[in-house]
Amino acid sequence: MALLQVIYMSTAAGVPTDAQLDALLEAAVRNNGQRGITGMLLYCGNRFLQVLEGQAQDVEQAYARIVQDPRHMDVFLLHRGDVAQREFDRWRMGFRRVGEPEAQRHPDYAPMIRGQFDPARMGAQPGVALDMLRAFAREPTDS
Ligand code: FAD
Repeated sequence: MALLQVIYMSTAAGVPTDAQLDALLEAAVRNNGQRGITGMLLYCGNRFLQVLEGQAQDVEQAYARIVQDPRHMDVFLLHRGDVAQREFDRWRMGFRRVGEPEAQRHPDYAPMIRGQFDPARMGAQPGVALDMLRAFAREPTDS
């Protein structure tokens, strides 16, 4: 059965502390483990970029909950589509803060990173956003 993959970006409501990001991630990992959702979350400047994948109904429900979360706003759907198999199966929710060191290590994605995940740039290149998520998912993460 095909799996659904959803990618969105959003803007944090304020500047989350490390403890707040940890709490968000802890709930994400716990819930995703129960629902068979895998994915990756990047935080850059004050923006989030996340991919969720799993059974369609589970992903739709998780995404509907996430969209309503007051800890972020301006949720912008970049991609929604079927995938034959999971691409992020290592992570119930991988996490990485992305900044200048990552831009230097990944020159291909530097314009997006230095542009702080600008919605217009991301929206114009959803395939590059997915490639970037894949690249960071292959590395050890902060979680
Ligand atoms: P709890 O985490 O215990 O929270 C209970 C309620 O309080 C929820 O409605 C929650 O939204 C709200 N809440 C909790 N902490 C705060 C806070 N500091 N400020 C305001 N409201 C708060 N959830 C997933 O299941 N999977 C994910 O992959 C995932 N990714 C996320 C990515 C981002 C960028 C954000 C902002 C949230 C994400 N979440 C994710 C969290 C999701 O939005 C829900 O908060 C969570 O699924 C609810 O989990 P819970 O029922 O265990 O409640």
